[in-house]
Amino acid sequence: MYLALYRKWRPATFDDVISQSHITTTLKNQISQNKTAHAYLFTGSRGTGKTTCAKIFAKAINCTNPQNGNPCLECRVCEGLENGSITDVVEIDAASNNGVDDIRELRERAHFTPAFCSYRVYIIDEVHMLTTQAFNALLKIMEEPPPHVKFVLATTEAHKVPVTILSRCQRFDFKRIKVEDSVERLLQIANAEGAQLEHGAAELIARLSDGAMRDAISLLDQTMSVTNDITVDAVTQSVGIAGREYLFSLADCIQRQDSAAAMEIIDELYQGSKDLQRLCEELIEHFRSLMLIKSIGNVDEFLESLSYEKEEIENQAQGFSMGGILRCLSLLQQCNDRIAHSSGKRIELEMCLIKLCTPEVDDNQDALLSRIEKLESQLREFVGGGSPPSIRSDEMQVALPKKEERQAEAVQSIKQEKEQERHKDSPPKQKIDEKNSPPKQEIDEQAEQLSPVREWPQIMAELGKRAPHLKGVLEDSIAFTHGEVIYVDSPNAMFGMLIKKDGNAKYLIDAVRQSLGREYRIRLRKSKPKVEKTQENLIDKLLENASNAGIEVEK
Ligand SMILES: [Zn+2]
Repeated sequence: MYLALYRKWRPATFDDVISQSHITTTLKNQISQNKTAHAYLFTGSRGTGKTTCAKIFAKAINCTNPQNGNPCLECRVCEGLENGSITDVVEIDAASNNGVDDIRELRERAHFTPAFCSYRVYIIDEVHMLTTQAFNALLKIMEEPPPHVKFVLATTEAHKVPVTILSRCQRFDFKRIKVEDSVERLLQIANAEGAQLEHGAAELIARLSDGAMRDAISLLDQTMSVTNDITVDAVTQSVGIAGREYLFSLADCIQRQDSAAAMEIIDELYQGSKDLQRLCEELIEHFRSLMLIKSIGNVDEFLESLSYEKEEIENQAQGFSMGGILRCLSLLQQCNDRIAHSSGKRIELEMCLIKLCTPEVDDNQDALLSRIEKLESQLREFVGGGSPPSIRSDEMQVALPKKEERQAEAVQSIKQEKEQERHKDSPPKQKIDEKNSPPKQEIDEQAEQLSPVREWPQIMAELGKRAPHLKGVLEDSIAFTHGEVIYVDSPNAMFGMLIKKDGNAKYLIDAVRQSLGREYRIRLRKSKPKVEKTQENLIDKLLENASNAGIEVEK
């Protein structure tokens, strides 16, 4: 039978456990000095060795010939615990057996002395999943534990364990496995298994598994089932990911301020089951790398990125200002704090990326500085004899026509559209005399019947509660009703793109229903911004931004 690599290579002694020496050293000392506690709490993210250490601990305290705190792996007890013939070590998976019955049974059996071992050890995995009743039953026995009983509680979420339980445990915090430790272990395993593992490929596996050794070994296993010559390409192909290119692509979108492309990448990753919280963390790491390269230059020891990506990171960092990078990091951090508790992780991340790509919807000081920096560089280009800067319409909102002008313009263009539709719908022969079409006056009346939605600010407030990202792009929008349709006219091109995305239209329809008490269909209207791309305009805007941000600029 094929034994999965991670089981085959599971550490058998404390000395085999990597990246957790702060824990294994303490446990070995306690065991060799016979000063172990009644109960332990092992906490840390998945794949960091909690259960493995619990099993080693259970063996070591019962081993008849312990070696410096490690189990000998050869005595009757070590062998019996390994092959399951000795049942004094009990593993309970609270995630699947979270009933009070299991703990009640534990309580009844715990009072009997162990059959073969010195200690009966209860390893309760994912202990935070126990019900309140089960926790209470567990607490009863932990309050007065028989001398021959030890508990090792393992959890990824220590904050969900009641304080009454926590206070009775010695707590050990397991760290994520360091990339270099993981790489070393992977190379060792590959070598022993007769596979060629490139250093870069080992790094990639270590990074992808995110500090979880079990996942890293499983990835190695998966790649080895395809080929024994393991390169970076072999890993990306077998795992079905395009390396970490998406991080560079997203950072490019932010630099180009291309929110539409960023949304597409997120959508693609989401469809590919990418964990969006993890994506947010990866983006933070990526921008941290950009920040370090930008500020320190030679950063090998701080850089958490893969060595073969270093050159790419250096190139990308050149396209960003330090202010821009810091603004991205701060927004991503805020997003990361929120996303953990949010049921709408995708929307949180989309909102964040829209802010990152469009500093103009963000009015904090960092965003203003970022806008000023961009305008400054455009200005430099312009003054330096290059072509005049291109300015996006939404960046120059000061130059947008007034709302009333846009309303009149929208009525006019809807008229034209209806006129065109009328031509299109008519059979060809009637196109000439237009006999059967409604008279032009009637169309004018229809268009005139478009009435501005006075409750629009109220609808926007409702929308803000449901989908703040949509509200953000609808700033400065206007709307009209006609029959069962609401025409939305937004100067921000993003709206057209966003409204087609899953569920977004529904948010708006719901907000409309909430405010107007009935259902409308939503149609999009695009106003034509009259932006005067003059140098004076640009400088005025620049000065205005600078003074808003409290920066003095010499004229
Ligand atoms: Zn032994």
